[in-house]
Amino acid sequence: MKLFSQIESMGHEQVVYCSDKESGLKAIIAIHNTTLGPALGGTRLLPYEKEDEALNDVLRLSRGMTYKAACAGLALGGGKAVIIADPNQKSEAMFRSYGRFVESLNGRYITAEDMNTNVANMDYIRLETRYVTGVSAGFGGSGDPSIMTAKGVLYGIEASIKYRIGKNDLQGVKIAVQGIGAVGKHLCKMLHEKGAKLFITDIDDNKLKQAHSLYNATIVTEAELYSLDVDVYAPCARGSILNSSTIGRLKAKVVAGCANNQLEDEEKHAKNLKDNKILYAPDYVINAGGLINVANELTGYNLEKVESEVARIANTLESIFIEADKLSLTTQEAAKRFAEKRIQSVANLKIMSSFNHSAIGNIIK
Ligand code: NAD
Repeated sequence: MKLFSQIESMGHEQVVYCSDKESGLKAIIAIHNTTLGPALGGTRLLPYEKEDEALNDVLRLSRGMTYKAACAGLALGGGKAVIIADPNQKSEAMFRSYGRFVESLNGRYITAEDMNTNVANMDYIRLETRYVTGVSAGFGGSGDPSIMTAKGVLYGIEASIKYRIGKNDLQGVKIAVQGIGAVGKHLCKMLHEKGAKLFITDIDDNKLKQAHSLYNATIVTEAELYSLDVDVYAPCARGSILNSSTIGRLKAKVVAGCANNQLEDEEKHAKNLKDNKILYAPDYVINAGGLINVANELTGYNLEKVESEVARIANTLESIFIEADKLSLTTQEAAKRFAEKRIQSVANLKIMSSFNHSAIGNIIK
């Protein structure tokens, strides 16, 4: 019964376990909230050591997607899925099997790529279901969403710098980027083109060497990165990176990056950042560019429309910063209120019944 109490306390609607011995598929799909529309969120593939770990991840990530879609102004709810597997085990059969489970939900959940899943994997899923985005152009898709995520983060960094230090451009602004992966590499390019001075760290030396030569970025160790005297710290690798051991070391005035679930403890660590006068751009607001990109595949992809929706991330962040200051809240609390207000406004809509065969009849005998 622990499972039900956990689902209930986090407010999920449905959790689906998917198992297929033939293909080796072990997946969990979590639908958190569909008030604003069907739940859209990526499929993460990791060799989780414990099933509980996979469950916690999918429950937390899917809830984050509800807030992300709500803040991004999308008519979508929040969902996410995890496949418990080593990346070497990936196969056509595994993704097609998974696609059949997604199809069985009849559009209540729509998937996309996430950690260790890519456009080619989404194309396999597309063979079994329409409810997948981030597919290749051959399937009418827009491909890898990372570039739009990076664009949103760039706009978010600009908005944060303007709000926190009153500077209207990034010329000479010092930015520490942690993780030069799919999003981080695009972000470094964009920041470099805007004249920012970059400091970078990654566990992959090749990525560092490349970014160093392309963007004149200074390579630092992870330990050095936290205490650098920079304007912005951009976490673009893993989650829970804002915690009791890192926050006290930060000299940055702004934390703004793409990583999901950056705060190890949402309340406590958001408060620590606020107390240290560090402006935190809530992760699910600033990193919504990829979601906006894939969501647009559902209505007919139009790059111009996507660009303008991604640019609005800056305005949303500014409203959240203003509201947080006005009400003495952390920016995390202000973002949550922003999302919950929109969800509640739709949840409050009048229910209007229409003709329904199964509901007609006299039940009073
Ligand atoms: P990725 O796997 O391509 O890149 C992550 C990078 O971080 C890799 O280069 C990896 O070597 C590096 N890394 C891992 N551990 C590290 C450490 N301890 N220190 C420094 N570097 C480390 O992933 P990505 O798609 O770029 O996503 C990065 C983050 O952003 C993830 O948290 C992801 O969930 C989130 N995110 C991504 C997207 C997207 O469109 N790809 C959208 C929203 C959120």
